Amino acid sequence: MGRILFWMLLGALIFMLIQNRKKLLKPRQTRQKLRQSEAKKMVPCPVCGVHFAEADGVWVKNKMVCSQECAQKASQ
Ligand SMILES: [Zn+2]
Repeated sequence: MGRILFWMLLGALIFMLIQNRKKLLKPRQTRQKLRQSEAKKMVPCPVCGVHFAEADGVWVKNKMVCSQECAQKASQ
């Protein structure tokens, strides 16, 4: 009986270790996803209304526009 109890405890311990590892991995994955979505954040162009990636935007007069073309229009 003692041996069976030992194996049951060992099994429970391994199960708990796996569960803990899953919990540790999850926040890191969601943080990575958040970083990715921040980098690809879509914002509307104030000049033409097209949605573009914030990383590709052009700054003009404290506004972010989608392209050099819209930057020229905004500065006029
Ligand atoms: Zn535009």
